[in-house]
Amino acid sequence: MTALAPLTAFADELRKKLPAGAVLAPGEPGFDEHRLAWNLAFEHHPAVIVKPTDGGDVAVAVGHAAEVGLAVAVQATGHGVIRPADGAMLIVMTDVDDVVVDPENWTARIGAGAKWQKVLDLATAVGLAPLLGSTPDVGAVGYTLGGGMGWLARKYGLSADHVRSIDIVTADGVLRTASPESESELFWALRGGGAGSLGVVTSIEIDLVPVTSVYAGNLLYPASMARDVFARYREWLPAIPDELTSSVCLMNFPPIEDVPEIIRGRSFTIVRGAFIGSDAEGEYLLRHWRRWRTPELDMWGRIPMAEIATVSNDPLDPMPAVVTTEWVDDITDRLADILTRAVFEQDGPSPVLFAELRHAGGAMARAPEVPNAYGNRERRHLLEAVGIGFDAAAMARLEAFLGQLRADLSSHVAGGAYLNFLEGDEKVRRASEGFDDAAWERLRALKAELDPGNVFRNGLPLG
Ligand SMILES: Cc1cc2nc3c(=O)[nH]c(=O)nc-3n(C[C@H](O)[C@H](O)[C@H](O)COP(=O)(O)OP(=O)(O)OC[C@H]3O[C@@H](n4cnc5c(N)ncnc54)[C@H](O)[C@@H]3O)c2cc1C
Repeated sequence: MTALAPLTAFADELRKKLPAGAVLAPGEPGFDEHRLAWNLAFEHHPAVIVKPTDGGDVAVAVGHAAEVGLAVAVQATGHGVIRPADGAMLIVMTDVDDVVVDPENWTARIGAGAKWQKVLDLATAVGLAPLLGSTPDVGAVGYTLGGGMGWLARKYGLSADHVRSIDIVTADGVLRTASPESESELFWALRGGGAGSLGVVTSIEIDLVPVTSVYAGNLLYPASMARDVFARYREWLPAIPDELTSSVCLMNFPPIEDVPEIIRGRSFTIVRGAFIGSDAEGEYLLRHWRRWRTPELDMWGRIPMAEIATVSNDPLDPMPAVVTTEWVDDITDRLADILTRAVFEQDGPSPVLFAELRHAGGAMARAPEVPNAYGNRERRHLLEAVGIGFDAAAMARLEAFLGQLRADLSSHVAGGAYLNFLEGDEKVRRASEGFDDAAWERLRALKAELDPGNVFRNGLPLG
């Protein structure tokens, strides 16, 4: 008997229980396409891929895997891989993407394969908005399980703070509903601490917010002004309301055709954000900048919520990216200098595409009425640094560079980690930094109870 024979038998057995086309074994048409992640730095080599059409299919697949001791990993888009699904059953959720918006109750029920774009389209059509992040291309569920900080965060809080219920298949193959009324410990855990480790979420119900448009955009100052812009930003923040969520982003725009000619291949210090309020109030807030120095480009103005992605213009095409993060409480000159040097002042092009410092606080700092596992609420600024590496050597250089950047920043950061801005080995190493000690132990205790065999071993390392 070949080594593959038991696996083939396993796949054939599973096929009998699931709809046609739901089970893909290595070498079969579609297998290689479905094992791809958006972040091309990661490659899954699963033993089998399952494409469920609903929660019932997920329950069957997980139950079947548990019978033979196969690990189960889950992916929506592959924007946030923790550990590749090597040798595991990879459940690819893309077909479980129904979204139903309830305009009366301001809620949306979202299938776990849906990207934010679909939710945004349906919600904005009825004058509402979800608490999505900088790109609508990520999975709404994966984003929410890790917290979810977007352009409305200081006014409304995290996406994880606005979840009403979660349907999930646990390691025993049982489809459960976690809400304030049922499975309340699981409901606490999944909102901030649930990525890939406690089960396969099949759908969530979330709150929508009544925002139809924002005063938002980017001011582009020369890269050489980074230190002054950070100092000016520091002066601006104490006076701004929770309705404004903003950032300073040090950006090296790549020299590629997709980037508009005026900024292509150039570097800028960008003041970006979104304000929920009138044009007059928005313009009043922006006077701090416009009266100070005229930016090279001023792109702040009224935009419909449906176009919120234009604020960050994140890339849509899959790419090999490395990301790191830190929480920062004080924007000191020293911090500004370290970031400026890393992004703009290398011999030759910096391996860092951008470093962005997002303003946290406001509603993000307040725990929701039904508390959740999300940690580090008191932190004031969220740093994210991202680079692209097109081959193994470039990836290794990039990881070393970002490691050195973190080392240089070590005495200027507040501690803790924002888990949505980590991937791979660094996310595994730093997972506990996403929570306070008591929450981390509580998560581990729940994991031990629900998944003693560590079936879900490719997610957050709780086991
Ligand atoms: C360009 C870009 C922009 C971003 N902008 C923001 C931002 O503004 N704010 C922010 O907070 N984050 C942001 N992120 C981070 C993003 O939210 C995370 O990468 C998130 O994990 C992506 O979720 P996904 O489902 O798309 O990815 P996936 O890689 O498919 O999943 C991510 C993780 O969630 C788990 N998971 C996914 N679906 C399920 C499920 N159904 N059940 C259980 N576990 C599941 C997976 O196992 C994996 O561990 C951004 C990422 C990128 C690449």
